[in-house]
Amino acid sequence: MQALDAMVKEARQLALGEVVPVPASTAAEDEVARQLQICNACRYCEGFCAVFPAMTRRLAFPTADVHYLANLCHNCGACLHACQYAPPHAFAVNVPQAMARVRARTYQDYAWPPVLGRLYERNGLTLSVALAGGLGLFLALAVALKGGLWQAVPAGGHFYDLFPHNLIVGLFAPVFLFAVLALALGVRRFWQAVTPVTGAVAVSGPAGAEAAADIAQLRYLDGGHGQGCHEADDGPTLARRRFHHLTFYGFLLCFAATAVATLYHYALGLPAPYDLPSLPKLLGAVGGVMLMVGSAGLGWLHLRRHSLHGDAAQRPMDRGFIALLFLTSASGLALWLARGSAAMPLTLCLHLGAVMALFATLPYGKFAHGIFRSAALLRYAVEKRLPNPVGAGGE
Ligand code: SF4
Ligand code: SF4
Repeated sequence: MQALDAMVKEARQLALGEVVPVPASTAAEDEVARQLQICNACRYCEGFCAVFPAMTRRLAFPTADVHYLANLCHNCGACLHACQYAPPHAFAVNVPQAMARVRARTYQDYAWPPVLGRLYERNGLTLSVALAGGLGLFLALAVALKGGLWQAVPAGGHFYDLFPHNLIVGLFAPVFLFAVLALALGVRRFWQAVTPVTGAVAVSGPAGAEAAADIAQLRYLDGGHGQGCHEADDGPTLARRRFHHLTFYGFLLCFAATAVATLYHYALGLPAPYDLPSLPKLLGAVGGVMLMVGSAGLGWLHLRRHSLHGDAAQRPMDRGFIALLFLTSASGLALWLARGSAAMPLTLCLHLGAVMALFATLPYGKFAHGIFRSAALLRYAVEKRLPNPVGAGGE
């Protein structure tokens, strides 16, 4: 009860805009600050991405600045492969790896409610439990409601015959709304911490438009020269940017399909289910294929990544999230193919279990990177329009 009271109190504080203290620095933040002092003297990578122009506006790197810069980094690897001070040099400059370690800490430190931020540390376990729990729930419900997982579906039958529409909405809506609330309050804590160190100025229209374009294009996955990220070696490739685009826009189309279907069902009096050529089905089918191809490509690239890229400790979180996206999209398409067959009930349980696990882990897994990075890009678009306080470098 006390924990619930504390959560409500903090949610109210955040909603009212009261300042939440910046977490204390750790060895991860100190290491980024050390490396950026070297970079600030060198500045060879100034044109690569937003991190370096933002760095040149600073002479010191307190914790909030490091959190902001770490979330501006897109982990493209360009500055590692260009760096004359990278390992095995004694300076051991590996900016993408140091930034990745801090990024993971920011998701954890700013998470809401704070006690659940620890789930990031054990994300592999969290994902497994969520997936097993989601699957178990729907398998048990299927048996309880209809008495079997492998049964012929009557002609013209649909999966809503197995799980009524209102039951599905009643199970998913609270989990999804909690995920949205937790993500919103988490990123608000981050925003409050980094706003004072990025000019403390509100977002203007041009700044918002520029940040939106950078997010939509995944601009900083171009390596700074337009040829893309580094994956397995020194050679740049646009593969990650393209697979990331497929994943990002596939996810958005699937979300749009659900939103349009909700509108059809509750506002327009056109009850679910829908099939081709309806708009919800078209959006869902195109989005599902894009999400499946994009997540498969990202998974393949992740397995080939250079060992010095990123933070090895976060690989289970990264791969778990990619696998869950793939499983959700592939099972959704399989469910469509299995409609009317005896395989439909089991395919439906697999799909609903995967979607439930995805929703439940959204605020405490890799999905957070998109939200925090977008917030950092927005602050960057604001900050770059202000006079440079150091008076050297910048975009
Ligand atoms: S990453 Fe290396 S080359 Fe690039 S600015 Fe830093 S020290 Fe210089
Ligand atoms: S890894 Fe890429 S995005 Fe990150 S700091 Fe280096 S050049 Fe910038």
